[in-house]
Amino acid sequence: MIGSPRLLESNDETLFFEVPSESTPGVVYDVLYDKDHHWLCTCPQYYYRKKYCKHMRVCADLMNIDDSMVYAEVA
Ligand SMILES: [Zn+2]
Repeated sequence: MIGSPRLLESNDETLFFEVPSESTPGVVYDVLYDKDHHWLCTCPQYYYRKKYCKHMRVCADLMNIDDSMVYAEVA
């Protein structure tokens, strides 16, 4: 199972989370969200494929964010 996201920082515009990797113990991905730029994650799925990833999903669920756009789609 994927670990629980931890909200490290939030302000009016940006949310910053850490999400533990489910496959590699000790690895943590950084997830960023803001309304204008949508989602960013440091995991390979986002980095190489620019896809909405499971780390974004758990953060979205935690905060009830209904948005599955990623930064690469608006950049
Ligand atoms: Zn990710």
